[in-house]
Amino acid sequence: MVRKLAAGNWKMNGLGANIAELEALVAAPAPECDVLICPPATLMGACVKAAQGKIAIGGQDCHSATSGAHTGDISAQMIHDAGGSYVIVGHSERRTDHNESDADVSAKAKAAIEAGLTAIICLGETEAQRDAGETLDVIGAQLAGSLPEGATAENAVIAYEPIWAIGTGRTPTLEQITEVHDSLRADLCARLGNQGQDMRLLYGGSVKPANAAEIFAIGNVNGALVGGASLKAKDFGDIITALSES
Ligand code: PEP
Repeated sequence: MVRKLAAGNWKMNGLGANIAELEALVAAPAPECDVLICPPATLMGACVKAAQGKIAIGGQDCHSATSGAHTGDISAQMIHDAGGSYVIVGHSERRTDHNESDADVSAKAKAAIEAGLTAIICLGETEAQRDAGETLDVIGAQLAGSLPEGATAENAVIAYEPIWAIGTGRTPTLEQITEVHDSLRADLCARLGNQGQDMRLLYGGSVKPANAAEIFAIGNVNGALVGGASLKAKDFGDIITALSES
């Protein structure tokens, strides 16, 4: 039985006062799913403490090297050392803003796994690619290029995040999400056998309390990667409840 995952990505949001949102989640009854918050690196230590082991804490990105002259970057080993257990790699904002290629993402995911973290590997098409009917080809190519050797259901998670749905309030139809997740599942099974069957597939892109339950009812959706709605404990708590009850 795959344990579902509700993952919140705070992006470049959050000051010390925002840890109160995490504390509110910690105080809620334990859900029937894993919960993860990826705060900005500045808050990671404080969040690990506040989470009391009830909520996992992760990074939003990592360098592919363990240490060295890379000003401003943090390594997977540093995230692990700070008490983190996951790291997001290949988010579309990193792919776009920092020109990250599939090869870069694969190297980061490999570093994460070697450091003892679970890598959340993000994939997603642009609106132009969807309109051109290229979605499954684009997603398949990103998976092939971004999934490192050694990935298992334990140390890797795939997040499908259509770029045009991130932070826009727009979501794909349930049929469109189903089509991509079914395709990803088939591809993962072909590559990894049972590990591919058990690897968690998250949907991300404008998930909110109002649409969470219908998205979580889709067979190959094993959770969500949530941006904006993860900043408020009330909204993220409602999404966690919807996942827990799915
Ligand atoms: C994200 O950035 O990963 C994301 C899904 O954002 P939002 O939920 O705000 O669309």
